[in-house]
Amino acid sequence: MLAALTLTIMLSGCTEHSPIVAESLYLDAPLQDRLAPVNSATTEDAHSPRSDIRKLSQELGIVEDYRAAFIHGEKPAEYQKYIVLHDTEGWGSPQSVIDYWDGNGSGVAAHFIVGVDGSVYQCVLLDKIAHHAGFGDIGNNQAFDVEDESRDDREGTVSIGPTYPDYGMNSYSVGIEMVHVGGDGDYPIEQLTALDKLIAYIDAYFGLESSIIDHKAWRSTNSDTSPEFAEYLRNYQEFRSYQAVSDAESKLE
Ligand SMILES: [Zn+2]
Repeated sequence: MLAALTLTIMLSGCTEHSPIVAESLYLDAPLQDRLAPVNSATTEDAHSPRSDIRKLSQELGIVEDYRAAFIHGEKPAEYQKYIVLHDTEGWGSPQSVIDYWDGNGSGVAAHFIVGVDGSVYQCVLLDKIAHHAGFGDIGNNQAFDVEDESRDDREGTVSIGPTYPDYGMNSYSVGIEMVHVGGDGDYPIEQLTALDKLIAYIDAYFGLESSIIDHKAWRSTNSDTSPEFAEYLRNYQEFRSYQAVSDAESKLE
């Protein structure tokens, strides 16, 4: 969770992670070229990566509400490695979450918030560093192959002690908050379906499958994601969907 004030100094930690799955298929091209408006391209195929990105974005109906205070540096595509999943630990709407983050002055935010109704809000561009993962367990910069270097301005960060000194994750990840309170019911299908599409969108945007972790993998004392998300997380890590492929297939039979 990022919502509580104390979380401005809370960050994550973990002992294992999935390797980066693939190199970008078209990472050589500047990101703005990969995302150029379709109307400007006369030779674009209907099934090109760019058309796929736009289609996924349109399906999601992303509500964009960017706030300058959430930007902490540049995150060029070559630095993208992880998608970090969080719970808000509150039932407020995505809009109220963004307003809360902006109002408390901490500079903490995730790139996206997914509501219980499946609505998706974005408040940080994918090419910018957001403070959503924060400090991690000692040794995690090395374990996750991330580096605490100068791209992150670290504005607003406060040390939380020698057990959690590693701070590389923000510079190499996209953060997604799900509106959810641990122990207070399952994640709605609408929310999980939206998360499926959002992960597919991020994959298409960067041209690679980022490793998917939850916040407590980065900082072991964090609560998010909730125990009721554990099976979904395993499915996301293996199948990039809340459902295992075998389950989805069996439902078609
Ligand atoms: Zn979190």
